[in-house]
Amino acid sequence: MNEMIRNTQTSVTKGSLDPQDWSEFRTLAHRMLDEAIDGIANVRARPVWQPIPNEVRAAVRTGLPRAATDLAEVYREFSEHVAPYATGNVHPGFMGWVHGGGTAVGMVAEMLAAGLNANLGGRDHMPIEVERQIVEWMRGLFGFPQGASGIFVTGTSMANLMAVLVARTSALGALARQHGIGNDGALLTAYASKAAHGCISRAMDIAGFGTDALRRINVDCDHRIDVSALRAQIAADREVGFKPFLVTASAGTVDIGAIDDLKAVADLCREEGIWFHVDGAFGALAILSPELAPLLEGIERADSIALDFHKWGQVPYDAGFLLVRDGERHRQAFAQPAAYLSREARGLAAGAVWPCDLGPDLSRGFRALKTWFTLKTFGADRLGEVIARSCALARYLETRVLAEPRLELLAPVNLNIVCFRYRADDAINREIVADVQESGIAAPSSTTLDGRFAIRAAIVNHRTAETDIEALLAAVTRFGMQRTGGVIEVEAPPLATQ
Ligand SMILES: *Cc1c(COP(=O)(O)O)cnc(C)c1O
Repeated sequence: MNEMIRNTQTSVTKGSLDPQDWSEFRTLAHRMLDEAIDGIANVRARPVWQPIPNEVRAAVRTGLPRAATDLAEVYREFSEHVAPYATGNVHPGFMGWVHGGGTAVGMVAEMLAAGLNANLGGRDHMPIEVERQIVEWMRGLFGFPQGASGIFVTGTSMANLMAVLVARTSALGALARQHGIGNDGALLTAYASKAAHGCISRAMDIAGFGTDALRRINVDCDHRIDVSALRAQIAADREVGFKPFLVTASAGTVDIGAIDDLKAVADLCREEGIWFHVDGAFGALAILSPELAPLLEGIERADSIALDFHKWGQVPYDAGFLLVRDGERHRQAFAQPAAYLSREARGLAAGAVWPCDLGPDLSRGFRALKTWFTLKTFGADRLGEVIARSCALARYLETRVLAEPRLELLAPVNLNIVCFRYRADDAINREIVADVQESGIAAPSSTTLDGRFAIRAAIVNHRTAETDIEALLAAVTRFGMQRTGGVIEVEAPPLATQ
């Protein structure tokens, strides 16, 4: 059969978009790769983030380019106008929100995936096998049974939404996909703590239940869901005729990294016959660290888990993931017959179940490849060590905050997130966060805890080291001093002269 494959040299098809001169393209492409590698290797030499000058914003605002521009020129624009003004999460000083740092390996894998230009919606090809292998690894890691299923998605927002949809179909039966959620659906209620991520209530909205159908349960002093309050709310809802169908527990809340008591929630869900979903966006991968894994006990009993490889997993954006215990229920929520998607026993149209049966997307990219490269090249143990180290750095920051009279710790440090503030009012702290970000020294974010503005440092990036923690602290105290003239809000020991 192979002699039937045309044996032509590298060629240029007239009218195609391929380079007219491959060697010229190759030279430029190698330079791009070199400079992209330099960008990561020398990241410390740059500010974490910098404000975008108006000229730069203006420079990219042009009409639709009807005519061709040289690749070299487009690349120059990228280098001057785009690359220097990225979010900064590659930089070790980036501690804002929960952003992963990415790796050089992930970057190269992403390039290889782009070269294959594979569509992972379905059909029979190795890229899908790579995705299935990662599903299998995750199934083993989280102790899910044979028959579990999983799929890459953009991020945990999407994975949480899909979990709501799977739980919905599971509660109402597959006919609800045809008739809509109807009167029965209007009685379904879901539960999550007040510290749960906002995408969960948005998922309830998008799934057609409305955000009121999500009961927000109080948290204890450690920001974990109050399980007895959860139990009471479920009972109260049943009492008046509602049908509790879903509890979403958090494995790592976005504000302070709290992990709900997953065992207790699992027990309750089992007793009540309720779908038990875990939002493990960043926290679930702590299971890779033997030291942290016990915190996640009970996650193996979940009906579904949402997680992101692009956060603690250090895989470049985007790489969200949904794992479902009962693969058949997962399929029932999304699979759809369509003649143009018919499955065959052999040939390219073989290989069902296809990923498009497991989510809303038909065309899908090869997110699995950068994840496969990351897991294989570093090894799961090493990633677990990186995760544990970011928790150790968070504890270091906590210790330093507690030792500094001008700073105040605002929440217990559970995992990798430290919330603190300069001893001054909310307005000054808000300015300090912007000052530090604009200085390019570090990039913390902020949140509100018990009504007080907090400077939030989430240590996620594998490059972050103690020196970066020190730089953050020095910047916060310096800008705090500048903004307050050194006057601090509450009684504290005399300040050391700076
Ligand atoms: C980041 C995060 C999300 C949202 O995930 P995306 O990948 O940004 O869509 C949801 N829940 C928690 C706890 C998160 O940290």
